[in-house]
Amino acid sequence: MFQASPWRTDFPAIAALARQQQTYLDNAATTQKPQALIDALGHYYSHGAANVHRAQHLPGALATQAFEACREKVAGWLNAPSPNQILFSHGATSALNLLAYGLEPLFQAGDQLAISALEHHANLLPWQQLAKRRGLELVVLPITAAGVVDLDQARELIGPRTRLLAVSQLSNVFGTEQPLPALLALARAQGALTVVDGAQGVVHGRHDVQALGCDFYVFSGHKLYGPEGVGVIYGRGEALGQLSHWQFGGEMVHQASYHSANFHPAPLGFEAGTPPIGAVLGLGATLDYLGGLAADAVAAHESALHAQLLRGLRDREGVVLLGEPQRALASFNVQGVHPADLAHLLSEQGVAVRAGHHCAMPLMNHLGQPGAIRVSLALYNDSSDLQRLFEALDGALALLR
Ligand code: PLP
Repeated sequence: MFQASPWRTDFPAIAALARQQQTYLDNAATTQKPQALIDALGHYYSHGAANVHRAQHLPGALATQAFEACREKVAGWLNAPSPNQILFSHGATSALNLLAYGLEPLFQAGDQLAISALEHHANLLPWQQLAKRRGLELVVLPITAAGVVDLDQARELIGPRTRLLAVSQLSNVFGTEQPLPALLALARAQGALTVVDGAQGVVHGRHDVQALGCDFYVFSGHKLYGPEGVGVIYGRGEALGQLSHWQFGGEMVHQASYHSANFHPAPLGFEAGTPPIGAVLGLGATLDYLGGLAADAVAAHESALHAQLLRGLRDREGVVLLGEPQRALASFNVQGVHPADLAHLLSEQGVAVRAGHHCAMPLMNHLGQPGAIRVSLALYNDSSDLQRLFEALDGALALLR
């Protein structure tokens, strides 16, 4: 059955891409933007930009008001108890680095940090490098063949020396949801801090950070149909209180002399320098737009389209899926075909998918794969996009095999 997206025309780039004969299926890398975001950026930059939290003048007051209103929107989106528990960073990567540096003083040599074997580099390297700086042990939780953290092994490996667990919500390689409630409970039982990388998870469905019960939750604006340059860190009250200031300068300072300084608490104390004001306003407009959509209809659409994607891939001889994808995306290889060659032929036919290690090199090595092709969906995709993908795939495979 043809699965149409009623939201397709809200995203002007889809029509523009179609005029260039391009079908965009690389949404886990970044998304196209709704008109509401484009309008909000245009409005801000054409009505008077100003810095926030520093000037007395009217443009400064208006910008600060609008900026803080967006913090409230993000808090509402995640059901955070207070906007003061929302910190703006420059993306998920910068958010995870902020956490790794800000939490560093809490750890001592011999402590363990646990991550999973399927983490994106953004949720691996900051912890790996922290472990090296501080003499900590990085424990890598194994995954099952389906592409989820193996809970039996996690039960063995998360123990009294575990001081922090950092895991992703939705795998950017497998499209699998991680068993967060069970994993977070294991870490909490040991008194360990918990960090959830929501970069992919936040895009699909609504998530309640209080119900999730994590200490920190991070995501990037640009994967959630928002602008680049802005990321979000939610912190649970007590956990935020344990975070040390990391980057210094600008309005994060409370009092400064030549030889000493003290700093604001969260959120301002963790937003050194001029924040990404336009991007924050754009993210706020995007959340307004997304909040106006019927969440059930979006979820049903995404799930029907994902099922069509999986069916189409599974129907094709030689296609081997990585893990057992549950939502949003699927990665695959074709027996006897190098993914880079296949991606090249797909690109030549105007189908934009991602090929490579998906910023998860250790995982690809673990899987013994040179890379994989990833097809990732967004709410504006429809069955015509999948038809073009499969036609292009058949054409490419006819040439390559
Ligand atoms: N975590 C996951 C699971 C991701 O998929 C990505 C990006 O692909 C990131 C973190 C990093 O996001 P960003 O590049 O926006 O910082």
